[in-house]
Amino acid sequence: MSDVPALVRRAVASLPLYDPERANVLIDVSDSTNLWGMPPAGAAVLREIASRVVAGYPSAYADELAPSIRRYLALPDTGVVTGCGSDDVIDSTMRAFGEPGEAIAFSTPTFSMVPALARLNGLRNVPVPFGAGFDLDAQRLVEARAKITYVCAPNNPTGTSVSRAAVEYVVERAAGVVMIDEAYAEFAPATFERLALKSDRVLIVRTFSKAFGLAGLRVGYAVGAPPLTDAVARARGPYKVNTVAERAAMAVLDDTADGLRWVRTQAKLAMEIREQVASALATRGYSPIPSNTNFLFLPTRDAGALAQRAVTRGVVVKRMEGLDRTAPELAASDGKGLRLGVGPWDIMERVIEALT
Ligand SMILES: *Cc1c(COP(=O)(O)O)cnc(C)c1O
Repeated sequence: MSDVPALVRRAVASLPLYDPERANVLIDVSDSTNLWGMPPAGAAVLREIASRVVAGYPSAYADELAPSIRRYLALPDTGVVTGCGSDDVIDSTMRAFGEPGEAIAFSTPTFSMVPALARLNGLRNVPVPFGAGFDLDAQRLVEARAKITYVCAPNNPTGTSVSRAAVEYVVERAAGVVMIDEAYAEFAPATFERLALKSDRVLIVRTFSKAFGLAGLRVGYAVGAPPLTDAVARARGPYKVNTVAERAAMAVLDDTADGLRWVRTQAKLAMEIREQVASALATRGYSPIPSNTNFLFLPTRDAGALAQRAVTRGVVVKRMEGLDRTAPELAASDGKGLRLGVGPWDIMERVIEALT
């Protein structure tokens, strides 16, 4: 028998592989990627680069992409760190600032990768239930005195926003670094990137996987005071964003009809369709939580059975169970629910049908 299992760190041995629950079906809205696909500007870069040499290394820290990010966010002097998806940026931030045994505090339920990555990095998870209306319980988050505080705004999987007052309270008083994950910023009525100017302990984390339609290329980033982003870059290591991904990310940030304007138009459409889907589901007896993202969360005790039946109708939705039940919506659904990504209306009609 192999003695390798005995050599594996405990935090790793007890961590299951991520199960994306891919099924061989026509319609998959189980993650909230861009169901319209990638912007034409991204596709053009891929065609062009495919005919050129990719045998060399990319830039060490995606240095060419950083100016595009600064321009997009209108933060000309901010530090930028990129990564192989924002998962990598979050992971590297934990390694940069969290000594093993130190705490990371976050509102719950939230992005499931965060507690998993924290365990891998030897951090202690301090989940704090959301306050009323899924706003942050800012006081309890601060009282955790955590080395790292993670705020997901808007939040996955609930789709809800948090108030500016609560976020500012946390930023002003938190003991350590505050990571604000804005994976869904392009769908949100308000964003927090300018807090990076107010505090040198705030990191704003963003991704190209959602509105920007490049999930398969794996590019994410964080902005903040240069000493913060430098530390994350050192913990991350060089060459994590490949040449193709860096070039495509630059192209979709360009203010062109095929790039950034395509992204903005399509994000607006996703928000309109999201509201249509929400009302269609409401008339069928569901109570979707009002969303500021490109997905809808439906609290329901029947999440398992509904997801299973949807698959038989060729549709995959994300089933969630064991969520924190402090919020009345989640208490009523026994901590269970379905998350549906929002895409073109013809797809969503099929999704609604599959849940009816
Ligand atoms: C999807 C998502 C991410 C990350 O994605 P990457 O593909 O790793 O960039 C990060 N945070 C939240 C809240 C998400 O929903």
